[in-house]
Amino acid sequence: MSTVKEQLIQNLIEEDKTSRCKITVVGVGNVGMACAISILLKDLADELALIDADADKLKGEALDLLHGSLFFNTPKITYGKDYSVTANSNLVIITAGARQVVGETRLDLVQRNVVIMKSIIPGIVQNSPNCKILIVSNPVDILTYVVWKISGLPPTRVIGSGCNLDSARFRYLIGEKLSVHPTSCHGWVLGEHGDSSVPLWSGVNVAGIPLKSLNPALGTDSDKEQWKQVHKQVVESAYEVIKLKGYTSWAIGLSVADLAESMMKNLRRVHPISTMIKGLYGIKDEVFLSVPCILGQNGISDVVKVTLTSEEEARLKKSADTLWGIQKELQF
Ligand code: NAD
Repeated sequence: MSTVKEQLIQNLIEEDKTSRCKITVVGVGNVGMACAISILLKDLADELALIDADADKLKGEALDLLHGSLFFNTPKITYGKDYSVTANSNLVIITAGARQVVGETRLDLVQRNVVIMKSIIPGIVQNSPNCKILIVSNPVDILTYVVWKISGLPPTRVIGSGCNLDSARFRYLIGEKLSVHPTSCHGWVLGEHGDSSVPLWSGVNVAGIPLKSLNPALGTDSDKEQWKQVHKQVVESAYEVIKLKGYTSWAIGLSVADLAESMMKNLRRVHPISTMIKGLYGIKDEVFLSVPCILGQNGISDVVKVTLTSEEEARLKKSADTLWGIQKELQF
């Protein structure tokens, strides 16, 4: 007796089931799942693999997505604790990591995350030696260095999400102040992701008109319009959202999918992302900070050379020194 499938479908060829565009998300927490759904809704992959140390949560999240298969065009969603599930990924997104516990120093937290990265990265590189790795877990600039060291991959293929989210928040807030959509409000936040990020006021423009040409005090203490508050709000954004809902997820998920799109479609768009900056702006150590980078199928192929003011350069240098101070103490 033949099955319904046999009666219904006449198979003509044995289909090649190898995925051509595969993305893996490591960590199915709030951030990982926001990345996953954003990637699915943008049709960026023909396979999405999920991996997490917590087997029940992983299965629950994967099944929940699979039950929505009717509504997106990614034919394969795979999951598992074994890194073989990640094999042949073009892009691997790292959102796994430990959270800071009360009384823990930043260095202790980083050291715990080094241990976590050591449990993740070798399995990734073994299964996908040609992949790009995008690090989202915090502190993102230091962990990008850590993943670069552990992976042995060229720095062009180890990318930190860096100030991509900070810059998106900056453009949203400028847009709010001007009643203009953020895509038409151009501005860059560079350097270290978070508290020490550096806004480039000279580059803020709408339709090519620098706002600083209209208000030379823009971004300074003497500015009567207090545009400086916009960057202060960028820095406070994460704290505010975490205080209100416990974590941030949607904006980082959307911004990660935007980076994934540049890589999966080889768009060569310019993004403010964390890259190895040794040799630039007088920085002599192996630190990762955000500068405008051209992002495509090979990862970061080029860096845009931004002219910084001496104050901006000094702030970047200070971040680099702080990061190196932590990095040089890490035990691999
Ligand atoms: P979460 O606690 O909800 O999720 C973390 C997940 O990682 C959990 O599911 C956990 O089981 C998993 N995990 C832990 N150790 C693992 C291991 N060894 N292997 C596999 N999986 C492991 O946290 P979250 O809210 O999703 O945040 C994730 C990270 O993203 C944090 O470090 C957070 O600070 C960071 N983050 C970064 C940005 C940014 O702009 N770069 C923005 C928001 C959050």
